[in-house]
Amino acid sequence: MTLASTAKAESSLLLQTYDRHPLLFTRGKGVYLWDDKGKRYLDFLSGIGVNSLGHAHPAVLKAIQRQSRRMIHISNLYYHEYQSQLAKVLTQASGLDRAFFCNSGTEAWEGALKIARAYGQTKAAGANGSAKTGKTRILALDGSFHGRTFGSLSTTGQAKYRDPFEPLVPSVSFVAFNDVEDLERQFDSTVCALCIETIQGEGGIRPISKEFLTRARELTQQHGALLILDEIQCGLGRTGRFFAYQHYGVKPDLVTVAKPLAAGLPLGAILLTNEAASAIHPGMHGTTFGGGPLACSVALEVMRVTKSRLGHVRELGKYFRRQLEGLAKKHSSVREARGLGLMLALNLDDAAKAKAIAQQLLQEGILINRTHETVLRFLPPFIIEKKHVDQVIRALDAAFVTTESASGASNLKIEPSRSTQPKLRRTRSQK
Ligand SMILES: *Cc1c(COP(=O)(O)O)cnc(C)c1O
Repeated sequence: MTLASTAKAESSLLLQTYDRHPLLFTRGKGVYLWDDKGKRYLDFLSGIGVNSLGHAHPAVLKAIQRQSRRMIHISNLYYHEYQSQLAKVLTQASGLDRAFFCNSGTEAWEGALKIARAYGQTKAAGANGSAKTGKTRILALDGSFHGRTFGSLSTTGQAKYRDPFEPLVPSVSFVAFNDVEDLERQFDSTVCALCIETIQGEGGIRPISKEFLTRARELTQQHGALLILDEIQCGLGRTGRFFAYQHYGVKPDLVTVAKPLAAGLPLGAILLTNEAASAIHPGMHGTTFGGGPLACSVALEVMRVTKSRLGHVRELGKYFRRQLEGLAKKHSSVREARGLGLMLALNLDDAAKAKAIAQQLLQEGILINRTHETVLRFLPPFIIEKKHVDQVIRALDAAFVTTESASGASNLKIEPSRSTQPKLRRTRSQK
């Protein structure tokens, strides 16, 4: 099948949910992917943060081969040896007590929301003898992304994703991003959970502020609500620590992870405290596929290799970020370089420019992604070296020159002062 015939077949056979780039990939190795014409691409997106060890990592291949010969699936009616081993690694890495395994990020998030409501009921019942007193409110943040199912959509703070599917799950309110006053105003004892992405991913690589997260921890504790962090994108080593919250000195009651957990096999997890877990009893939640032996045995390898790469991620992340800041100083269309570890971004002043630059990099054989209209997002695998960063920076530099001269603007910043740059837009009323 060629690209043209594949695209034609898909257009009549598949539910039309994706606006794909006209690229047909056939294989990958390390930091590179190859298309059907044999052209090589440097992968600085990692399948949206999934292939954190790159493509065809030997440890992953070995685990897949070994375990697929033994057994792929047995259901959660029986024991296999890997769930508890993986739970041990993940609880040690997170500082939390227990794990639940599922198949995707969204599914982990759905489970987290169910736990929040169940926890709210037990808390309310404990307080005044009735399970119906309404400790049911869930607070989430503007600009967030938690997935595509009903619960996940209901807590996703972007109207464009929610609106076509209303009505959604009730009793969810949105707090303005990093706005401590708004958080304080909306918080009371009817809240069962506060939901935060430690670094908003799809929303444009926006880290939560230390002030906001610290206050979030205080308020949830004070009101007996769960602090739930979504680290599906920013967790599992992406920021140079196993969990992004470890940069803040704040520990949640529950965290969700998924994307890189099993190197591209579907696996997500909820990690939580014993206290939060006490709301759930056998029969209240479950999955057929989740936490199967194949995915879990691969995840054990991913965690082992990731641990050995954390220092490298921090070092390369700092180097990459400095280079991006250099571009931000040099080019007038860059508002800001931001992010942590190997979760980095350039926020531009214009969506069309961001699109043009991502397109030019693609022409040159570099995969990046544009998110939230104006943001160029970089999620390279943890195995990149400086020379790969340099290649991307050179390509970006050239693309800015082309794009800025095409749009009539000077490519040189006259006054690269931070204070003259526009403030981050509040995303409260975004389409
Ligand atoms: C990708 C993502 C999800 C959804 O995960 P899926 O595996 O696509 O269901 C949820 N939250 C965050 C922060 C994500 O980046």
